[in-house]
Amino acid sequence: MNTREILVAGGGIGGLAVALALAQKGRRVRVLEKAAEFGEIGYGIQMGPNVASMLDRLGVLKALEPTSVFPQALIFADALTNEELTRIALGKRFLERYRYRYFVIHRRDLHGGLLDACRQRGEIVLESSRGLKSFTQESDTVTVVCENGSVYEGAALVGADGLWSPTRQAVVGDGAPRMAGHYVYRGVVPDEQVVDRSRIDTMTIWGGPDLHMVQYRLRGGTVMNNVATIASRRFRRGEKDAGAPDELEELFAQTHPGVRDNLRYVSRERNWVLHDRDPVTNWTLGRVTLLGDAAHPTLQYLAQGAQMAIEDGVVLAEKVAAAGEDYNRAFLAYQRERMNRSARVVLSSRFFGEWFHVGGGARELRNELARGRDPENPWEADWLYRGIQPDGRL
Ligand SMILES: Cc1cc2nc3c(=O)[nH]c(=O)nc-3n(C[C@H](O)[C@H](O)[C@H](O)COP(=O)(O)OP(=O)(O)OC[C@H]3O[C@@H](n4cnc5c(N)ncnc54)[C@H](O)[C@@H]3O)c2cc1C
Repeated sequence: MNTREILVAGGGIGGLAVALALAQKGRRVRVLEKAAEFGEIGYGIQMGPNVASMLDRLGVLKALEPTSVFPQALIFADALTNEELTRIALGKRFLERYRYRYFVIHRRDLHGGLLDACRQRGEIVLESSRGLKSFTQESDTVTVVCENGSVYEGAALVGADGLWSPTRQAVVGDGAPRMAGHYVYRGVVPDEQVVDRSRIDTMTIWGGPDLHMVQYRLRGGTVMNNVATIASRRFRRGEKDAGAPDELEELFAQTHPGVRDNLRYVSRERNWVLHDRDPVTNWTLGRVTLLGDAAHPTLQYLAQGAQMAIEDGVVLAEKVAAAGEDYNRAFLAYQRERMNRSARVVLSSRFFGEWFHVGGGARELRNELARGRDPENPWEADWLYRGIQPDGRL
């Protein structure tokens, strides 16, 4: 086992995935998490076959199965008419093509599975209440100072500290992320409360002018995850109360009653304000690099942010294993391999946000194209679902 620790700032999905991947390569890792406890808030997360294969490599896929749900199809429907436009089958042919199934899981279950696996590895130390405040580096050492004054030395630092990453500010220095003006309301309700059960075994997205709704079941089908998103018109007009609950109601008022009805499952207590960043090429500074949302935060529209963070972790560990003690070389190789794939996710996610949210003539075009899609081929996600290609090829 290599004796010098690698420090990871952030114990979210990306931080734990990279810790696990590095430990599998015999590296010692210390994860410094800002929150008082390692944990995740409780909503759903979609996982494509690209990430299922990564989770398999990390040895956690089997343990996640009992809490995962494997929908029968991905459905795209029009929110104004409730017309089903596309149904992508997730059965035998999908499995033959991509080797792994598509699944959905509660964030807590995914994070918990990674956390359990980390706890079982002697190479990994997990420390909470350790928010990274700053770091310095010399030729072979990185020193991290935490908000509570504790100091750690390591051979390298991975900034997996999320959207507002202080590590990124020291490495890239590009200020606050870009606010998209999109607001998300979520809710998880017991399955028996769900009235319309016509698409109960699917992952369904309804797209409408400046809004969309997503629904799928979690935890062995015992609960239903509901996500309502609006592209706020008030935000675009620079008005106050952008994305407030009354704007949610206002925009969903135009939808089909069967779609609007799903708003009853969505909590108004808090919303998520969506951000992303333009892709950059300099995630690495000496022995420090970035991963996950710290490196390439994305809008949710391809449901790939966490998946990219997990893929990052696996690739980073491979590059570290190949480069011995030369962390700068390893991190530059990692960045090169991950750059275009993650940038494509960021830019495609913006496109799919538009695609979901169009109105007028653009909606007519979208619907016609969606109706014509091959139900056996999720074409826009094929490059994603095929997974990581050698040398980061797309
Ligand atoms: C509404 C919504 C739906 C989504 N759906 C999906 C989906 O279906 N599929 C998918 O793959 N992705 C989805 N995503 C994206 C996904 O949530 C993120 O991309 C993913 O959580 C990023 O993981 P991360 O570990 O990089 O960052 P985070 O999950 O943000 O974790 C960062 C961690 O760092 C900690 N931290 C912060 N600052 C510091 C510091 N200074 N020092 C130490 N620790 C620190 C935080 O407490 C946190 O634990 C969705 C996002 C949203 C908003």
